[in-house]
Amino acid sequence: MNLAQTVMDRCDELATCSEEEGRLTRPFASDSMRRAHKHVRKWMRQAGMTVTRDNVGNLRGRYEGSGTRTLLLGSHLDSVRDAGKYDGPLGVMVAIAAVQKLHDAGERLPFALEVLAFADEEGLRFGSTYLGSRSVAGRLGEDDLRRTDGDGVTMAEAIRRFGGDPTTIADDRWSGERPLGYVEVHIEQGPVLEKLGLPVGVVSAIAGQSRFEITFTGEAGHAGTVPMGHRRDALVVASWFVDGVRARAEGTEGMVATVGRLEVRPGAANVIPGEVFLTLDVRSAHDEDRRLACDELLGFASKIAEHKKVGVAINPVSERAAVACSPSITGLLRQARGEGAVEVPSGAGHDAVYMSEITDIGMLFVRCKGGISHNPAESVETEDVAVAIDVLGRFMELLARE
Ligand SMILES: [Zn+2]
Repeated sequence: MNLAQTVMDRCDELATCSEEEGRLTRPFASDSMRRAHKHVRKWMRQAGMTVTRDNVGNLRGRYEGSGTRTLLLGSHLDSVRDAGKYDGPLGVMVAIAAVQKLHDAGERLPFALEVLAFADEEGLRFGSTYLGSRSVAGRLGEDDLRRTDGDGVTMAEAIRRFGGDPTTIADDRWSGERPLGYVEVHIEQGPVLEKLGLPVGVVSAIAGQSRFEITFTGEAGHAGTVPMGHRRDALVVASWFVDGVRARAEGTEGMVATVGRLEVRPGAANVIPGEVFLTLDVRSAHDEDRRLACDELLGFASKIAEHKKVGVAINPVSERAAVACSPSITGLLRQARGEGAVEVPSGAGHDAVYMSEITDIGMLFVRCKGGISHNPAESVETEDVAVAIDVLGRFMELLARE
């Protein structure tokens, strides 16, 4: 059996499990997820795994080994709205394929393998991300369970309707011996591997992230009557800021910074902009770099606002530290890849972020066309998937020898 082709076919099959006709939308605890589970259960069993489901709705396929410890593999099965086929499911399918390979050869490793197919990473239904891995890490609380979806259904009720018991979620926390590690295969969601001409890359770290909301407040006025020298134009200041953000990030290796939303008020062709609201998102695998850039950018915002006699209000929204991948797992993944091994940072968050609270983590990125993700145009090559299956298999062999 050509395992890479099987993985591709399975990603196609899962893409038909959707809430929406003609496009892929698979939220947490939905009918489409129920259909996806039917397939995934079957594939896990075919690979020799025993399958259980926890309360939040993660499928857990276990392939016993000769020892007592466990290596965790996995990714998520949920999707964004109008998604591509590979963000999430690819990692689950590659993990199952790697176990299938052992099962077909009648091989057992000195440790058990557990494939985690997470119930939610994207947070489409409840606007709260990483529900699946947070449950495994013991970080899903009462506040989360009280959240409601667009129809007013609480998360607790959604879990109940999906066959779980929200009152015993804490029992699903990983409670055995500390796992040997958690390894996740995921599409890159960026263009770096494609530019390097490489099928896979070993992830060095998952970037930390800071988010802010900034409002510049000037004075609205008639676009025809207020002379240029008398204006307090909030958009002029905001535009300096946007370009300052670009320049600051471009000047620092591995940093990205984005103003993704900008609202001009009152927003009329013949009115000087009196107020501009914007968002700032700064990411880097180096926390000190990120913090320094944020301090400087917020200082810059105040300085240019003062210069133009415009007010500025800064609201910090969230901050998440970078998560380093384990040097030993990363080293083995590089060794497993052999020639052409390259390390790349991850700008996007992944389930591995929460799994890092219970074990060492490692990630393997698979090249995706044009770096496109969260889009039906997501595309990966079968040959690249074959490389990912090989690297994961060889990684497990190397780990077994240690
Ligand atoms: Zn993902």
